[in-house]
Amino acid sequence: MKKNDDIKLTITGLSSEGSGIGRDGEMVVFVEGAAVGDELIAHIIKVKKRYAIGTIKQIIKPSKDRIEVDCPVFKSCGGCSYRHISYSSELEIKRQKIQDALTRLGGIDIKVEDILHTDLIDGYRNKAQHPVGLDMKNNVITGFYAKKSHRIINNTKCLLEPTEFETILKAIKNYIFISKIKAYDEQTHRGILRNIYIRQAKSTGELMVCLVVNSDSVPHKQVLIDALTSCPCGDKIKSIVFNHNKEDTNVVLGKRCTIIHGQDHIKDELCGLKFNITPLSFYQVNPLGTEILYAKAKEFAALKSTDTVLDLYCGAGTIGLTMAKDCKQVIGVEIIKEAIKSANENAQNNNIENARFICDDASGAAKTLFDEGIRPNVVVLDPPRKGCDTEVIETVVKMNPERVVYVSCDPATLARDCKIFGELGYGVDDVVGVDMFARTVHVETVLVLSR
Ligand code: SAH
Repeated sequence: MKKNDDIKLTITGLSSEGSGIGRDGEMVVFVEGAAVGDELIAHIIKVKKRYAIGTIKQIIKPSKDRIEVDCPVFKSCGGCSYRHISYSSELEIKRQKIQDALTRLGGIDIKVEDILHTDLIDGYRNKAQHPVGLDMKNNVITGFYAKKSHRIINNTKCLLEPTEFETILKAIKNYIFISKIKAYDEQTHRGILRNIYIRQAKSTGELMVCLVVNSDSVPHKQVLIDALTSCPCGDKIKSIVFNHNKEDTNVVLGKRCTIIHGQDHIKDELCGLKFNITPLSFYQVNPLGTEILYAKAKEFAALKSTDTVLDLYCGAGTIGLTMAKDCKQVIGVEIIKEAIKSANENAQNNNIENARFICDDASGAAKTLFDEGIRPNVVVLDPPRKGCDTEVIETVVKMNPERVVYVSCDPATLARDCKIFGELGYGVDDVVGVDMFARTVHVETVLVLSR
């Protein structure tokens, strides 16, 4: 096989990134945008020793899972992976992804049942971050990055986002036009506007708009405030913020924010509790899905009124706070200072007095708590994609909890960590996938381990 060959393939599986997989003799061929069951002609664009990458040249016989794509930028945009197949087949792919990770990577013998999900598969997101840049003609553009790239696909209408976000992006584009504010250039580190970051509290409709800037101040600030507050959803915009990021980095947000209009937070409700959402603290992006996820985490925790819950990687305290009334005490640990501040405020606003929060690295905090003699009955783990440090797992096991509830956004690191738990004497009792990210390649998993 060589570059530019056209070869006939039947797609028999999908990669973890959502590309179709077909075989040509010994060669595995990855074809982006292909569906299981497609018979197609792939145009080979890259050949390695064991595998090749192809694009779809012609579909000879489409998979029965295929549906009509409803987004004009689907092919190029790096956001969605599954707009070309039915949602039911997407759910099965995600179930299989969790099953494969647990079985093959984790060596765990457990059957993963059907994925839990909501019926809202478009417009579900409450948060968006849109990079800002220049096109070939030096026009300011905003949208999403193309797959595996930092090339911006110009688009203000993302189907995963609520329609208000498009309205806001258009208002900001007007401000950009009037103020002549320069888009940030990643190559030269010049220019000001890096990213447009929007959050919506779904239960109240309140909106927060944050401009990430490579500067301390921004020209024509009042023009921006007027453009936003007079746009069709302007009455819902309760917070306008600059986030200052002057680092030469891919990390979207800097550490410092300036509130230029309204409050430093928007108000939301989740699982019957009130939460203040601030620009820098983590908050799950799909609120309806989150309610399903947190309910499952709580069910797995099987709390008694005498239990102590340790919520590691707690963000703004959300999981622990939803458990607080059913246990004796909650201790949350989180590395971001602003998230801990939110967690304390969230406890106070909900009259929860049996929760305390520690700002520290999960590993260090777990050790300190162990040394202080804390022995939680239930430990909740909800780490970022890279999973838990081995030290965290070792300390949790030393604490000897009755149950460990592990919430994960990456089945592969979850499986790796469960394998370590297994070596230390904790096995998986129950597992379920929750689809919080319809149409994208991501899936959430929650499982419970015990000794
Ligand atoms: N449980 C929360 C947040 C989960 S996201 C929720 O459901 O909303 C993971 C969180 O882990 C983020 O808030 C991140 O800031 C935090 N985090 C990342 N690395 C950490 C570490 N080493 N120690 C403690 N917290 C960490």
